[in-house]
Amino acid sequence: MDSSVFRAEQLLFEPVSPDPEAIATIYAFPNTYTVGITSLGYQTIWADLAKRKNIAVSRWFTDLSETLPRQPELLGFSFSWELDFVNILGALTKLGIEINSRDRAESEPLVFGGGTVLTANPEPFANWFDLILLGDGEELIGNFLQVYAEVRDLPRKQKLLRLAQVPGIYVPSLYQVTYAAADGEIQKIEAIAPEIPAHVTKQTYRGNNLSASTVVTANAAWENIYMVEVVRSCPEMCRFCLASYLTLPFRTPDAETSLIPAIAKGLKVTSRLGLLGASITQHPEFDLLLDYIAQPEFADVRLSLASVRTNTLSLKLCQLLSDRDSRSVTIAVESGSERLRRIINKKLENSEILQAAANAQAGGLSALKLYGMVGVPGETDQDLEQTVSMLREVKKTAPRLRLSFGCSTFVPKSHTPWQWMAVDKAGGDKLKFLQKQLAPKGIDFRPESYKDSVVQALISRGDRRVEKVLRLAFEFSNGEVPSDGSYRRAFKQLRGEIPTLESYVFETWESDRYLPWQHLQGALPVDTLKKHLQTSLADF
Ligand code: SF4
Repeated sequence: MDSSVFRAEQLLFEPVSPDPEAIATIYAFPNTYTVGITSLGYQTIWADLAKRKNIAVSRWFTDLSETLPRQPELLGFSFSWELDFVNILGALTKLGIEINSRDRAESEPLVFGGGTVLTANPEPFANWFDLILLGDGEELIGNFLQVYAEVRDLPRKQKLLRLAQVPGIYVPSLYQVTYAAADGEIQKIEAIAPEIPAHVTKQTYRGNNLSASTVVTANAAWENIYMVEVVRSCPEMCRFCLASYLTLPFRTPDAETSLIPAIAKGLKVTSRLGLLGASITQHPEFDLLLDYIAQPEFADVRLSLASVRTNTLSLKLCQLLSDRDSRSVTIAVESGSERLRRIINKKLENSEILQAAANAQAGGLSALKLYGMVGVPGETDQDLEQTVSMLREVKKTAPRLRLSFGCSTFVPKSHTPWQWMAVDKAGGDKLKFLQKQLAPKGIDFRPESYKDSVVQALISRGDRRVEKVLRLAFEFSNGEVPSDGSYRRAFKQLRGEIPTLESYVFETWESDRYLPWQHLQGALPVDTLKKHLQTSLADF
C-alpha cells in the first residue's frame, strides 16, 4: 500500500488545519490499513481528533502511515482484537518508544489506548500504556484532551496524576497490585496516592447520535461501505456475551432525528450501506429504517447487516435484503440444544431457527450463515449431537440456501457472569467432531481456531504478570504472530514466577476470588453478575 490510499478517501467531515502549537499526535490501529479503516470506532475517534485545532493528528497502520511528527506528544491505539497485541509491540519498537511506560523518558509521548480489549481487561497490557480510556469514546476523548491541554507542560508524572482524576481514565502505573505469592492469586489492588480514585468507572455515552462512518474508501475490507451504528449493546444478556454486558445499557437512537439523517448523509457518497450493532433488529423503530431504505430512490443500494437476532429474521427483511443486493444473512444460534440455550439465556427455539431459514429462502437470499459455540459450561455430547441434528433440519427446510456454520469455543470474558468459568479442554475435539459430522451433509463448517481461543482466554482473564508471557512469546516468534509453542515455551521459562496457563484458562474460579479487574467498574456490579451466574448454573 502507498500513500495514494489516503488520497482515495472520501471524507464525510471537515478536517481543520491545526494551530502551530497543536499537540502532535499519532493515532494508530494495530493492523493493516484495510482492517483499521473498516473499524467504525477507529474512524470516529480519528475524525474527532482531526476536527480539533489544538491537535495535529497523523494515522499509523502496520502497512502504511501518514507523515509522522518527529516528536509526538501523544500516541494512541484503538485496540479491538486481542491478538493484535503483537502489532502494538511492533509499533512501539518501530517508532522507537520504550515498551514499558515506566521506562519512558520525559521526551517520549504519552501512550494511550481505548477499545473493547482494553475496556474489558487492560491488565495484561497495563505496563505498556501510560493511560487507558475505559468505555465509550464520545465524551471521554474530549475530556482527556481538555485536561491534557491544561497539564501539557508539566512533568510526565504530574500529568498522569492529574489525568488519573478524569472519570474513565485509568493510569495503570498509579495502582499497586499485591499477590499472595509470585505465582499466587491477587490479594489486593490499591491506588498509590489518596487523590487517585480507588475504582475507575467505565464511561457510558447517553447521547442520541451513535457512530457513523467518517470516511468511505474502496480500500476498506468492504469496498466503499458506509457504516451506521444502529444500536449499542444488546438487551438479551446471553451469559457469555461481552458485546452485551460490557456496553449496557442497550441504546437505541431515534430513527427520525438520528439514524435516518445519518443514513441519508452516507448514501449521498456511496451506494453501499452497512447497519451495525450487536442486535440491530431489536431497535424499536427498525421497520422505519427498512421502509426508508426500501424507497425506489435507493434501488441500487447494497445493504449489509450485522448479525441479526434469529427470531427477527422476517420475510420482509429477507426480501429487502435480497432486493438490495445482499445474498446472505448471519444469525447467531449458539447451539442446537434448547437446554444449553436456556443455560446461556438465549431465548430462542429450534422452530424459530427453522422459520428464519425458511424466510431467508423464500425472501430470495442464497446463503445463510449460522454462528455457534462449543465448550459452553454444562455442555454434554448430547448437546453437540443436537446441534448436528438442528443443522440438518435447517438444510432440509431450506435446501436451496448455501448453509455455513461458524463455530468458536467459549472464552470467559471479564464483566460477564461467566468470567469465572473455564475454557473447555475438549473444545478442539468438539470442533473436530462437528467438522466430521457436518461436512458430508453439505454444510460448510467454519471453526475458529481453538488455540486462538486459549490465548484469548489468557488475555481475557490475565493479570499484569501475563505481560511477561506476551513479551516472551513475541520474542520467541521474532515479532510474528506467536505459535502456541511460543506461549508454552514462555510459561515454561516463567515457571514459579507467574501462575500457570492452567489456572488462567482452564480452571473455574471461585466467585469470591479477587479479580485482576476488581478496581475497574464495568456496566453491572459484580453481585448482579454473580446472580446471573447462579441462574445459569441452576439449569445445568
Ligand atoms: S443475542 Fe447476541 S449480542 Fe445479544 S447478548 Fe446474546 S449473543 Fe450477545
